[in-house]
Amino acid sequence: MKIFLLTICAAAIFLTANVHAEELPFVDKFIPWSEHRDELGDEYTLKHYGKVVRQIVPQAVVVHWTAFGTLESNWKYFSAEEMDDDEGRLNVASQFLVDRDGTIVRLMPETNLARHAIGYNHCAIGIENVGGCDGHEDLTEAQLAANVRLIKYLHAKYPTIKYVFGHYQQDAARASGLYIELVPDYYAVKTDPGKIFMRGLREQLESDGLIFYDD
Ligand SMILES: [Zn+2]
Repeated sequence: MKIFLLTICAAAIFLTANVHAEELPFVDKFIPWSEHRDELGDEYTLKHYGKVVRQIVPQAVVVHWTAFGTLESNWKYFSAEEMDDDEGRLNVASQFLVDRDGTIVRLMPETNLARHAIGYNHCAIGIENVGGCDGHEDLTEAQLAANVRLIKYLHAKYPTIKYVFGHYQQDAARASGLYIELVPDYYAVKTDPGKIFMRGLREQLESDGLIFYDD
């Protein structure tokens, strides 16, 4: 029995190592993360969710576009810890940033809380895509393929993930029951990452059992 168990364990370890070696679809370039950032996060989550959340159990993926800049300028933008905002000083950020050529950069450990979608930060992983300047639906085929790959990776790693929606679908996504916001009228109209991109993701990912929303 012992030998049998050991064999199973060895096989599992081998399998895990193998999956990670072959399927990690990104490069790590973490933004600076000090204790101060944690404290700003505590302040934000307490105010908006009624509890301190530093680590999330991912239940949704929210897809965005940056609306400006390059991979580098967005990395720099998210690197700042503080922003000047009445609703919280924690700067915006997301767990992933996808360049126009499809390069995926992981900006922080996947389950760190990031401020990217009002009402959903406590349970959602954010993917930012470089593009969408002036609201143009200009995300690339390479970005679409990269998002599909990344979401498949996340879904396999976190079976708790059930929903994928675009930031502009934040209202429709309330049907998930995940939305929490304690501050009345704290809301921002969004158009990212565009309907074309979300239709593309839905086409390739809905058969994996993920829940999407209509336009
Ligand atoms: Zn967004």
